[in-house]
Amino acid sequence: MEKKTSTAKSSSNSKQTSSQNNESKLLNKFFVDGLKDIYWAEKALVKALAKMEKKATSEELKNAFSQHRTQTEQQVSRLEQVFESIGSKAVAKKCEAMDGLIREANDIIDETEDKTMTRDAALIMAAQKVEHYEIATYGGLVQLAKTLGKNDAANTLAQTLQEEKQTDELLTQVAESTINIEAAEETA
Ligand code: FE
Ligand code: FE
Ligand code: FE
Repeated sequence: MEKKTSTAKSSSNSKQTSSQNNESKLLNKFFVDGLKDIYWAEKALVKALAKMEKKATSEELKNAFSQHRTQTEQQVSRLEQVFESIGSKAVAKKCEAMDGLIREANDIIDETEDKTMTRDAALIMAAQKVEHYEIATYGGLVQLAKTLGKNDAANTLAQTLQEEKQTDELLTQVAESTINIEAAEETA
């Protein structure tokens, strides 16, 4: 019984890794396109997070954005490592979704008043929409990397996935512990 299970496992593993002509596979092309998309997004986020830090009201949120900006710079480098590990050139291709999410964050800055906690509450929501897009993207890319037998790439992408999840949780904490409560007291 046990033997059967392990045989089945190893045969499915060898299927995953016997990457005959992997580079020409359609799924591989989709994987590389996905990397280009998130590479564009992370680079755009380095700039967007700097603006969000500048426009946030509370020190707590400024610090959270500043920390995540540093992490995001590392995530850009990590993607360059992934491109290298699969023998592809690091190329950025515009991510329409992230472009839209960043525009939404900019609209929030325009539509909320400076130095209010309502600004911060709204910026946290905008930032969490970004993190959720990233979590979905990296989650999918880790799975594809594993399926394609690119284990180094999978591990590197999983590190970033973890950081995006932690950032999302940190933002929830910041919102719930102080910012939303103070924002609720503000009047026009
Ligand atoms: Fe990121
Ligand atoms: Fe995208
Ligand atoms: Fe992020």
